[in-house]
Amino acid sequence: MRAHVVNCPHCGKPVEWNAASPYRPFCSDRCRLIDLGAWASETYRVPITETKDEPEAASPGTEDKNP
Ligand SMILES: [Zn+2]
Repeated sequence: MRAHVVNCPHCGKPVEWNAASPYRPFCSDRCRLIDLGAWASETYRVPITETKDEPEAASPGTEDKNP
């Protein structure tokens, strides 16, 4: 008899891949939420960090604002 065992992506703890592990591949609901939460916050942070479009500070003149 052999059981399929995976490692929890968050803490590395071995998790049996069967009905006894409802949170697989995570070992517990806590690890699953922590991992998903970290992933989501990182996803949100990336576009905000790269928002460095400041055309007004870069251009010396205001030629675009001719009435
Ligand atoms: Zn875990």
